[in-house]
Amino acid sequence: MKLFDVLRVRTSSDRVARAIRLVALDRVAYIREAYGGFVALVNGDSGEKHIVYISYDAKKFSCTCMDFVRWRRPCKHILAAAYIVDKMIVAQTKPPSSQLRESRVHHCCQASRVVL
Ligand SMILES: [Zn+2]
Repeated sequence: MKLFDVLRVRTSSDRVARAIRLVALDRVAYIREAYGGFVALVNGDSGEKHIVYISYDAKKFSCTCMDFVRWRRPCKHILAAAYIVDKMIVAQTKPPSSQLRESRVHHCCQASRVVL
């Protein structure tokens, strides 16, 4: 499930466009997993910082900006963070796992060589 696709249908298309712009400007500064979802720090247009939360199922979300406080709908910061989270998940499930498997095999070889 992609968080961005779930959240984008719950808000307006101009917010989606502004979120894509934030992603292009590399404004999503920080993302970590916490509280059953993701917490992100997004830099706003006038230098302010917003803290975004999105649960794993995208049913719960929040942002510290006025847009979210007023409308309680996904704002551009939430959407930008969701976009980056989706990208991170795709990246994690493909090449790094195969690399990890290769390095484990390599460790086995080295270990058996030491024993012999
Ligand atoms: Zn916001």
